[in-house]
Amino acid sequence: MTAGMGIIRLVLIGMAVYIGYSLLRKIFAVNGGGKVNQRINRLVQDPQCKVYVDPQYAVIKKVNRGEMFFCSEECAREFLKGSGKGG
Ligand SMILES: [Zn+2]
Repeated sequence: MTAGMGIIRLVLIGMAVYIGYSLLRKIFAVNGGGKVNQRINRLVQDPQCKVYVDPQYAVIKKVNRGEMFFCSEECAREFLKGSGKGG
């Protein structure tokens, strides 16, 4: 009569499945917990050379339409010179 052995085996298999399942849940909880939150500075485009610049460091020129951002004084000068003539 070895009826008891079958029950022990079932219990062991059940425990193994339970432990494996809880481990998997822990792993996924750790990996899926953090949200990637990238904050990108809003960049402005230099209309003269089409380069993107941080407005904090840009050369700002006031024009009819508002403010324009340039990567350098040279670009600002070139752009204003070009737009001023001929329209
Ligand atoms: Zn430029």
